[in-house]
Amino acid sequence: MNFADSELVAGILHSEGYGFTSEPEEADLVFINTCAIREHAEEKIWQRLKYFQSLKRRRPHLIIGVLGCMAERLRKKLIEEAPVVDMVVGPDSYRHLPQLIRQVEGGTKAIHTLLSREETYADIAPLRLSPHRVSAYISIMRGCNNMCSFCIVPFTRGRERSRSWQTIVEEARHLADAGYKEITLLGQNVDSYNDNGVRFAQLLATVAEAVPEAWIRFATSHPKDMLDEVLEVMASYPNLTPYIHLPVQSGSNTVLQRMNRGYTAEWYLQRIETIRRYLPEAVISTDIIVGFCGETEAEFQDTLALMRAARFDSVYQFMYSERPGTLAARRYADDIPPTVKQARLEAVIALAQTLALESNTRQVGTMQTVLLEKPARRNPQDMAGRTFSGRAVIVREAASQYAPGDKIPVKITEATSATLIGYAAHEHPLCA
Ligand code: SAH
Ligand code: SF4
Repeated sequence: MNFADSELVAGILHSEGYGFTSEPEEADLVFINTCAIREHAEEKIWQRLKYFQSLKRRRPHLIIGVLGCMAERLRKKLIEEAPVVDMVVGPDSYRHLPQLIRQVEGGTKAIHTLLSREETYADIAPLRLSPHRVSAYISIMRGCNNMCSFCIVPFTRGRERSRSWQTIVEEARHLADAGYKEITLLGQNVDSYNDNGVRFAQLLATVAEAVPEAWIRFATSHPKDMLDEVLEVMASYPNLTPYIHLPVQSGSNTVLQRMNRGYTAEWYLQRIETIRRYLPEAVISTDIIVGFCGETEAEFQDTLALMRAARFDSVYQFMYSERPGTLAARRYADDIPPTVKQARLEAVIALAQTLALESNTRQVGTMQTVLLEKPARRNPQDMAGRTFSGRAVIVREAASQYAPGDKIPVKITEATSATLIGYAAHEHPLCA
């Protein structure tokens, strides 16, 4: 989501005549787009600001702006504690960037962190920053109306609002015309998308029809809101990819209640069953928080049990990090010792790897259509890509014959917990 927001900011500045460089040493203006979801994300920014301070000593005219959720959360404090910062701009204030830059050029620091109930940046053309021009994001909504007790997002990104479906379809068409092969629709809770009665299932179907040549993905689905209608639509369009990111957070009903997630473990597992019924090839990933306030060993074991029952293909795991002002920070003590959080995180990682390896091993011997993204990091003769369902694949010795953006049939010969490995197979019917 931050990557998509950075493209939006680059688009706004581009239309004002600014040029983009990815080398901080060359820039006259540096924006740091920040996350506030965990303390660690913010610590990294404080470190980064020290680097920009050294840069500014050498180039005093350099303007430094902090954008995004950390800007929204800390506001004036950022400028007070890091004098190197000239601008602090929240996620709903990017339209004001040109005038805020002029304010700084005039010698005054600038802060704009008002949240909006309407801003969706629907009319702004993002400047695409990914070097390979294969995949692109479209933000379909902003903010979040849920109040998960651990989460800072509703405070930093404001109320939920949906972008007009027409502008989403136009942007998708524009991307496909520009050669993009894969489009990901983004929202904190896509299932509550609602543009004057047009809901997510209808939006998905409309986008799928508008760009039949592109693979369409989306994130994030919320277990309490995901409708069968969305699964039905996914099953009926050949370019809607069977990939669902369905964050569960915990497998314990008492923890889920304290987290204010609005579902039980049983409900969640039912949703998984329904997904696998509609989409037998679905890849399902999740987010898990360990060491949430008061999490007992038995509650933690429920999370491991749910992971096994759900047979997740992939898991993103986090240690609970208390965020000031959230419901959990006000209501509960952050009382799980760091060593216990760490041990639980490691147990989740170990089980997730076992499940991922099982899931990937089931693909060995199959033929998959793979969208090639870029040369592989380890061996640039190989190429990295993804299957239709979103599994990472390394295609051996593909770089001399194929380019990023090619969709090719691949015979899967090996699997690790992180990736599939295979060879390009010629004249396979899926390639036609
Ligand atoms: N809207 C998405 C998640 C957005 S945040 C959803 O509802 O699932 C991405 C992930 O960060 C969350 O799923 C959660 O696992 C993690 N996260 C959020 N707040 C956190 C916190 N305070 N400590 C640790 N992890 C957190
Ligand atoms: Fe945060 Fe919950 Fe909203 Fe996701 S749904 S962004 S976890 S409040």
